[in-house]
Amino acid sequence: MIPAAFEYLAPATVKEAIGLLQQHGEDAKVLAGGHSLLPIMKFRLAQPKFVIDIGRIPGLDGIKADGDAVTIGALVTHDAVEHSDVLKSKCPLLPETAAVIGDMQVRNRGTIGGALAHADPAADYPGAALALDAQITAAGPKGTRTIKAGDFFVEMLTTALEPSEIITEVRVPVLGKGTGAAYVKHPHPASGYAVVGVAVVLSVSGGKCQRVAIGVNGVAGKAYRASAVEKALAGQSLDEKTVAAAAARAADGVDVQSDLYASSEFRAHLATVYVKRAVLRAAERAK
Ligand SMILES: Cc1cc2nc3c(=O)[nH]c(=O)nc-3n(C[C@H](O)[C@H](O)[C@H](O)COP(=O)(O)OP(=O)(O)OC[C@H]3O[C@@H](n4cnc5c(N)ncnc54)[C@H](O)[C@@H]3O)c2cc1C
Repeated sequence: MIPAAFEYLAPATVKEAIGLLQQHGEDAKVLAGGHSLLPIMKFRLAQPKFVIDIGRIPGLDGIKADGDAVTIGALVTHDAVEHSDVLKSKCPLLPETAAVIGDMQVRNRGTIGGALAHADPAADYPGAALALDAQITAAGPKGTRTIKAGDFFVEMLTTALEPSEIITEVRVPVLGKGTGAAYVKHPHPASGYAVVGVAVVLSVSGGKCQRVAIGVNGVAGKAYRASAVEKALAGQSLDEKTVAAAAARAADGVDVQSDLYASSEFRAHLATVYVKRAVLRAAERAK
């Protein structure tokens, strides 16, 4: 399949890219790894007249430890996240998540900025970004601003980014001692996307759960925090019975999606199973 004709533009700086977005408005689309944009262009679900390739802009592909956080450039590929020693030691949830995205070709080209900006409800990073309280840096005509992951995902394929803004960086916390994290996923057998994906970050002190954050993707129209489960676990010991009772609330207050592969009932059931697994795994790692 061949997409509709478009003009290819390759800015050399973020400022130039923002200028092109301002100039061409709704006729323009940013291109990063192309692994979401090009398929939808081939299906003619998007027909931008201008494709602005940010892939040649220097300085957007680094992973750096920065005090109690790690910053990840928007152009960092899933493969680079998976194999980053900095992330493996300071925020292992992201490498664990990146490792189960699509296949090797997808991981070699797809970028963290593109995955977050695309906001596919079945993508893997959004749940992890929510569980980590990640901060997303967006550069636009008025300068840069930071958007909390909790405010970033607005609805299916829609984020809080303004039309002329570009994600430049994602900031995640260093996960310290006593903190455990886990990402578990039920992949769609054909596409590999998450039917259900659950990211958990929790800390344990004196045998009790202190802080817990659970991000869920695949289940609803956008990734969400399983707040009912978080409330049920706070201050509790993380034994299997307590975790199972809390996990039963994984889809509370959520409009559960349904498709040919998974009915909403089956998906909601999977959510409880995978929330339980992820919490128990994170608790084990927190020891
Ligand atoms: C066969 C296949 C299987 C896949 N399986 C999975 C999977 O299992 N899990 C998963 O999570 N994903 C999966 N993906 C999607 C993949 O992870 C994509 O790489 C990702 O969703 C988009 O990243 P990209 O860099 O390719 O972005 P692009 O396709 O280049 O862009 C995607 C969207 O984001 C915008 N954009 C890109 N970068 C920026 C930026 N820095 N600032 C603002 N806007 C930006 C673009 O304008 C576009 O609207 C799969 C893709 C394919 C083709």
